[in-house]
Order: sequence, then structure tokens, then C-alpha cells
Amino acid sequence: MRWWSHAGTAGALAAVVDPGAVPLAMLGATAPDWLEWVGSAVAGRKIRHRTVTHVLTSWAVAALFFAAVWDFRGYGLAFAAGGICHWLQDSLTVTGVPVSWWSDRRTTLAGGRLRTGGVAEYVITAAVVVVCAAVVWARGPEGGYLPFFRDWPGLYRSGLVDGAEWRSHRFEFF
Ligand SMILES: [Zn+2]
Repeated sequence: MRWWSHAGTAGALAAVVDPGAVPLAMLGATAPDWLEWVGSAVAGRKIRHRTVTHVLTSWAVAALFFAAVWDFRGYGLAFAAGGICHWLQDSLTVTGVPVSWWSDRRTTLAGGRLRTGGVAEYVITAAVVVVCAAVVWARGPEGGYLPFFRDWPGLYRSGLVDGAEWRSHRFEFF
């Protein structure tokens, strides 16, 4: 799958669960691919695509650790959840991905029929983003704290911020 499918899907899902987790979820969702680059540079030898950075067990262990042992503002869990999301998406493709460190073959889910960059990838990603956006929109600002779409005019009216603050922030959407 392409990086924008991973980032878009994980970002949209995170926005529904916890908007504050969006950046880290997107970073984690693209991590299995960019970690191959980073790892190759650090190790000095090429890490093959969809191998060590794409093992489900590693991401699941990381998620468990952040959920049960230690985390900083939920950032670790968001990052690991993004990695699991990446794995699930890649598992839908023909190539598949490894489940554990000892897997000698790759696993595919739902028949593994998707082709990376194919039409189905666009359709599925768009569908997830649209559904998540609808949920976030339907809940409205009262449904939760939305740091990325802060209601500056609303805050101004309710007297929480002064005019200067509102003027300097009113075109900020992020
Ligand atoms: Zn991947």
C-alpha cells in the first residue's frame, strides 16, 4: 500500500477515537515503510521490503507495552496502533505480511486481492476517510476536544479568548 493510504486511514480512525492521537497514528502508520529506510542506513545493509519492520507481533507487543506498562500521553500507543493498522492494510494485498518473527511465509487477509496503487486501494481509503469524517462531523465540537479544528470564533464569543488572540488565530486550521 502507498504511504498516503496508511496515513489517511490511520489518521481518520484516530480522529474518531482521539483527535490528539492523529499525528502519532499517522507517523506510526507509515513507520513500517520508512523504518526500512532508516534501518538500512543505520545497519549499513539493505532491509528487504516487508520483512522485520512489517512483523505483526512486534507492533502488537509495542502496543501492549504502551497500553499496560508505560506511555507518554498515549503517544506510544497511537504510534503502535498506527503500525498495526499498516500491517492490516498490507495484509489485504497480494504480497501479504509476516505475522510473527518465525513466519516463513507471509499472511494475507480477506483473500489478499488488492494491488498496491490499484483502484481498490483508493476506494477503500476514501471510504474509511469519508465514514470517519462523517462520524467526527456528526458528533460536532461538543463530542470531544478537536485540537485541529478549534472553534476560535466560538471561543471568542464565549469570552475565553480576547480579540487579538482570535484575530491572530482565525485562519489557523491546524
Ligand atoms: Zn508496508
